[in-house]
Amino acid sequence: MHSLRLISLLAGSALVASAAHAAPAPVADTVLLHGQIHTIDAQGSVAQAIAIKDGRIVYLGSDAGAKAMAGPATQTIDLKGGVVMPGLIDAHMHPLEGGAGLLACDLQYKRLTVPEFQAALSACAAKDGSQGNDGKWLIAVHWFQQEMQPLGVDMTKAMLDALPTQRPVAVFSSFGHSALVNSKALALAGIDAKTPDPVGGAIHHDAAGAPTGLLEDAAQDLVRKLVPTPTPADDVVAARAALAAMAAQGVTTFLDADAPRESIHAFSVLSKAGELTARGHFAPHIAPEEGPSPEPALARIVEWRRTYDQGAAQVQPTIMVRTIKLYMDGVITAPAFTGVMLQPYLENHGTPEKPDWQPGTNKGPAPYFPPAVLAPLLERITALGFDPHMHADGDGAVRIALDAVAALRKSQPARDVRPAIAHDEIVDPTDFPRYKALGVTPVLSLQWGKQAADTVAGAKDYLGPKRYAFMEPSGLLAKAGARITFGSDWPVDPLNEWFALKVGVTRRNDPSAGPEYSQPLSGGPPLSVMQAVRAATINAAWSLRAEHQVGSLKRGKFADLIWIDRDIFAGNPDAIAQTRVLLTMVGGKVVYRAP
Ligand SMILES: [Zn+2]
Repeated sequence: MHSLRLISLLAGSALVASAAHAAPAPVADTVLLHGQIHTIDAQGSVAQAIAIKDGRIVYLGSDAGAKAMAGPATQTIDLKGGVVMPGLIDAHMHPLEGGAGLLACDLQYKRLTVPEFQAALSACAAKDGSQGNDGKWLIAVHWFQQEMQPLGVDMTKAMLDALPTQRPVAVFSSFGHSALVNSKALALAGIDAKTPDPVGGAIHHDAAGAPTGLLEDAAQDLVRKLVPTPTPADDVVAARAALAAMAAQGVTTFLDADAPRESIHAFSVLSKAGELTARGHFAPHIAPEEGPSPEPALARIVEWRRTYDQGAAQVQPTIMVRTIKLYMDGVITAPAFTGVMLQPYLENHGTPEKPDWQPGTNKGPAPYFPPAVLAPLLERITALGFDPHMHADGDGAVRIALDAVAALRKSQPARDVRPAIAHDEIVDPTDFPRYKALGVTPVLSLQWGKQAADTVAGAKDYLGPKRYAFMEPSGLLAKAGARITFGSDWPVDPLNEWFALKVGVTRRNDPSAGPEYSQPLSGGPPLSVMQAVRAATINAAWSLRAEHQVGSLKRGKFADLIWIDRDIFAGNPDAIAQTRVLLTMVGGKVVYRAP
């Protein structure tokens, strides 16, 4: 250590360069001292201090060791005993949509009474200033329709017609299946009592036959198509908002799990401007109808990779296009029942008061990619060097995805492939060990593993006790050796990584959800804090082939780290939800500081 001292004393002089011959310690750009630095290495080591140079970690160890690397120009951050860990890696989100939602009239997934709902919309109308003479739409998002208070209240256009605006109004549910619109919007869309339901959608009518303003599934498109699509400039603004939200949450790497070209382009614009503050991975999707003859779709995605992918990882964040998204099914919960199941959903053959739940005939839709299409498609996707990321909610969809990977492993045993199955809400227990055996990563939205409207009212009875006992099986999959990985699915839920991690380790909802949801969700053990943290750091890095650069704190890796306001590894696991990020660093650069 003697020579290190010497170098630090001589820092800034030419002697440093000449002394480099004797492999001295580099003079750090930044040192963080007096902390509990959770490295998330295999041993779970904790260091006191860290030193960073040229965006990489050059030292982890004691305060004395880090101080020895400081020169006159070194920035010193005193952690005051605080906790530092690797930056979060979110392996499944929809950032362009998420960012756009932050800028729209945002109902924030709140449970609202009708007057509260109207007040929020009135505030948006007032803020925007448009009187509607310009035909400008008022669009609201993240409406928690199922939790409107009192529960089951009939939502109609009259509630929107009463708002102090002449504008067409459309309110979209966070669930994605319905929209409520006002009379002006219905008129513009040409929807009246005689309008037939579109295929795959429904227009609600009142007793007199008039449309109520509630549009389900494909019927939403009758209105959506009238709303001007965002311009490329709008997309850049949304991407910027998304990055700011990520930095504040401590997210330093993300996967856009269904990336339209607009998203890759918008983040690329920010990259060129030096504004990319998280490492961006993008997974364009192949649609089911493209599956049987996928060459045009593959050519399109190869072209996007050629245009946007910035090559080998660098200290500064870059854009990577190396994953392809496939939707195997929809969602398992009521009222959709679009999850592909091995056994039928149950139906109530009794009354609401005296229910009698029996297997029905509905096992969900046909798989979006049937086995005969999926196996050759995975072969082609992986031959082109992409990793498949498959959305599978129901156990039937999960089974088909695993079978296709099994076929691929058999036909291409030497090919380096890292397939992921996202969501995995219901998995048949016989499939638990197959994730490890086949090297498939389950990418789980840990915040779903709690009692809430979707899991209780929307799933419990329809699945029956046997399947409900395995719902959201993160702990069971971990026990079976799967590499549990986290993906928030933002903006299906708010971007709240710390709430998701807390649910992962408690399987409990927030107390504000009400006493009816206060107990843990069944479905096996919760994750340990370390398992949940690894899911959102090193395991997520592995799923994106970034484990040699990020995901843990180690000499030589990029300095992607966060300083948080509490020790999440000790104490009350419920309090993890309240974690605040004090500082976020990406490639050695501070991209967020708590106000
Ligand atoms: Zn998603």
